[in-house]
Amino acid sequence: MAPAPTRQITPDLSIVVPLYNEEANVEPLYQRLKAVVDAMGISYQFVFVNDGSRDRTLPMVQGLSHRDPHVGYIDLSRNFGHQIAVTAGLDNCTGAAVVIIDADLQDPPELIPQLYDKLLAGYDVVYAKRLSRPGENAAKLMTAKLFYRTLAAITHIEIPVDTGDFRIISRKVVEALKLMPEQNKFLRGQIAWIGFRQTYVEYDRAQRAGGETGYTYGKMLRLAIDGITAFSDFPLKLASLSGFVVSGIAFLVMLYTLYSRFVTHDYQPGWASLMISILFLGGVQLIAIGIIGEYIGRLSANVRQRPLYLIADTNMQPEATQRGSQEATPPEIGPR
Ligand code: UDP
Ligand code: MG
Repeated sequence: MAPAPTRQITPDLSIVVPLYNEEANVEPLYQRLKAVVDAMGISYQFVFVNDGSRDRTLPMVQGLSHRDPHVGYIDLSRNFGHQIAVTAGLDNCTGAAVVIIDADLQDPPELIPQLYDKLLAGYDVVYAKRLSRPGENAAKLMTAKLFYRTLAAITHIEIPVDTGDFRIISRKVVEALKLMPEQNKFLRGQIAWIGFRQTYVEYDRAQRAGGETGYTYGKMLRLAIDGITAFSDFPLKLASLSGFVVSGIAFLVMLYTLYSRFVTHDYQPGWASLMISILFLGGVQLIAIGIIGEYIGRLSANVRQRPLYLIADTNMQPEATQRGSQEATPPEIGPR
């Protein structure tokens, strides 16, 4: 029997943790988080979101929820990805402030009091900025660095460089996030876009405590493309710009060809140059079409208005404002 949900009261702090195949980290994470928040002397709630793990993560989290009434869990119906798992946690948590933290202990729970203090000092977003990232391979570091710099260069809003999703946000920001319906989530960007008073705390990133990264290069690439397309029109502009440049060059070459053919009569029946220009133009056109396709794909995803995620099981009370599975049911009509 699951314990009766007791999570309608507003705790001072909710801690949202997305978990994907984290059986090795659940227990140490819980212990360290608990030690930290107990010492802070505030009321709190944990929201563990199981993102379709294939290992023992779910039963372990459920076990914790039986031991400790502070533990809420949400079991998504399949793997929806990190950003959506966090969103599910944010939608269902009730804290006055919310910490988002990874399950693998790369984000030190011991930083939470510092984040919380800054929040109390009047900020709405305090993100943790990593000074170093040991234990991650050079390729990941390089791609991450390149991505953050590119994003900063081509977007108008200031998305902080070298931060993950480890941060604390106020209830105001959580409610604002709920108003942003986009399907291709890039929380860091969305939170930057929201504004209010934002600041950061610096820390050294630890190595993954156990298990393996759930972020494959495929998932990272998706996140990068989501981040860029959600916050920048630059790729679209680049497509049309390169279209103009290439057309301009093609026009000059055409003049030269006509000149050689009719004035100097100095020409070779060269199919090679013909092939090259056709291939080149074809390539540019394909790039442009591909970029447009990326945006149109996102448009259609948003037009479809599918729920972002489905909850298979939870011990938390569904929120009235939740955008998950519950939204499909019509609102209750009762006596006024
Ligand atoms: N995660 C998730 N769904 C996924 C992949 C990852 O919920 O599809 C969680 C994972 O359990 C961890 C966090 O997101 O808590 C960050 O993932 P990971 O540590 O694998 O990413 P990295 O630190 O390597 O970028
Ligand atoms: Mg990690």
